[in-house]
Amino acid sequence: MRYEMMLPHQIRAAIDARWPVVLPVGVLEYHGEHMAVGMDTLAVIGVIERLEKEMDLVVLPPFHYGAASYAVEPPERNGTLHVDAEALLPFAKAMFAGLLRIGFRNIHIVIHHQTENFAAGMPTDLAFRLAARQAIFAFLEKERGEGWWGNEKMANYYAKESAGDDPFNWIKAHPLLTAEAIEAYPFDHAGLGETSLTMALFPQAVELAKVGEDRWYARSATAASEDLGKRGVELALAHLRKALAPGNLAPQSAD
Ligand SMILES: [Zn+2]
Repeated sequence: MRYEMMLPHQIRAAIDARWPVVLPVGVLEYHGEHMAVGMDTLAVIGVIERLEKEMDLVVLPPFHYGAASYAVEPPERNGTLHVDAEALLPFAKAMFAGLLRIGFRNIHIVIHHQTENFAAGMPTDLAFRLAARQAIFAFLEKERGEGWWGNEKMANYYAKESAGDDPFNWIKAHPLLTAEAIEAYPFDHAGLGETSLTMALFPQAVELAKVGEDRWYARSATAASEDLGKRGVELALAHLRKALAPGNLAPQSAD
């Protein structure tokens, strides 16, 4: 369900049933002359819309305003809208603090932008991941007081951590395409992989005739197809199905 459309009784039911709460994250960035600037966020939105047809989800309003960077093109008349990670951090921290206050304990960010080496991270996802950690620490200190971790009640922390019952699992970040998916599907910027993905999800956001030879990263897009894009969608769905599956949930903590 779209969060902004939910009634309070539906929100309470979703909290009690530990529905995954998903925030699509991306950027507005120049993706060649042939594709919409929202591609990265649109890819996540499209896949999450499909996932929601098969499992219960709370879908937060997507966040498009990530740190796109001007690495690809300068913004003037090209459309890239870059917001520094320093500005994202306090926003994301406040938003996560708010979600924890509401009662959500099963929050997932799904991002598609510069995620080819997700373990190392890039400014947008690092800002959201750091904000999530900081929000959880602040929440726990406020709720349980300082020394919460050293308390005898936490003696089985390391066992719980491996089992998933750990407050730091309350907010998780996932790339749309994992390292395994990238082995089976072309990962690029505005090339064959991204253009096909967009054709499968939002065909109105691609004009294939406008693919130019002048930009190296977009050249491969001439071979893009909806069929290839559907394979990418399936790979993303397979990974998110597992990452958000009920069996993967941290049980509600006792306090
Ligand atoms: Zn992209």
